[in-house]
Amino acid sequence: MRSPITSEIDFEADGRQAGYLRLPHSVHRSAYGWIPMPLVQIKNGDGPTILLMAGNHGDEYEGQVAVTRLASGLEPAQVRGRVLLLPMANYPAARAGHRTSPIDGGNLNRSFPGDPAGSVTQIIAHYIETVLMKMADYAIDLHSGGSSLHYVPTVLFGDRDDKTEMEEVLRMMRAYAAPYALHFRRSSEIVSSAAARRQGTIAVTVEMGGSGTVTPSALEVTRQGIERVMAEFGILEGSPPDTAGETRILRLTGQDNYLYARHEGLFEPAAEIGEDVEKGQTAGWIHHPETPWDEADEVFFPMAGTLLCKRIPGRVERGDCLYQMGQDDAMV
Ligand SMILES: [Zn+2]
Repeated sequence: MRSPITSEIDFEADGRQAGYLRLPHSVHRSAYGWIPMPLVQIKNGDGPTILLMAGNHGDEYEGQVAVTRLASGLEPAQVRGRVLLLPMANYPAARAGHRTSPIDGGNLNRSFPGDPAGSVTQIIAHYIETVLMKMADYAIDLHSGGSSLHYVPTVLFGDRDDKTEMEEVLRMMRAYAAPYALHFRRSSEIVSSAAARRQGTIAVTVEMGGSGTVTPSALEVTRQGIERVMAEFGILEGSPPDTAGETRILRLTGQDNYLYARHEGLFEPAAEIGEDVEKGQTAGWIHHPETPWDEADEVFFPMAGTLLCKRIPGRVERGDCLYQMGQDDAMV
């Protein structure tokens, strides 16, 4: 079955094109309406295609800003090949500033490979995978910690069965040159990196900051990383920013990489992101201001590692993620 989404962009035409992906959406206030997903294409002759997508989660803003800046500023003469700029991948979520879609509750990055006959979010996932990813030789899916987490700038990359593809993924991760990289052995089948893997697209996911805001430092890492990746693969003319520092490559080993709240209350963290911690070290306390005579619950890190992200809102419920941590990766 074909996607119901149609494109105002002629993907084969050179130059700058800006328009909407139209997702038919018949609702009370608009019987024959469509959801307008903005897309900009900058194309200059033959060459590789890169897809730069942000707003997969609508409350993650660094990527949306970086992609929007490129959409208004990048000129065809600066490009060889094709750049696809999708700043609001899950448009309804991005417009609402929410992680998930207010239309169907869909989390786009848990919806791949999607379904052309499914809900709005499933239709978007299916289009991104089978049309945009399929066209793209390279892709970066730009995330951050959103409303509930804050990340040190980190590039996430997963294993590929194909050796050449894996080498290209590593090349992309190194070109992006974030301070941290996180190596996944297997990625879940429902995230965008799995969509890229199925389509043979060389891709990384990046986590740049968070807290439901935009910080200049995280945005600068984002901007430079995108430019370096485009230059590395011959898509961007001119020399890329050369301020890249060392990337510390970490990996996840199991459930203990995540520290979760086991009580409801008010979380007082004891460590900052980027910090190296020991197994058993105090991670913080969950206080109970409703019953302030009760002692706080002390929480401990379940393993030694480096803290990549932490929870932002102070109130926590049982099952909320407080920290994610990685261990140094000897495999890469
Ligand atoms: Zn995200």
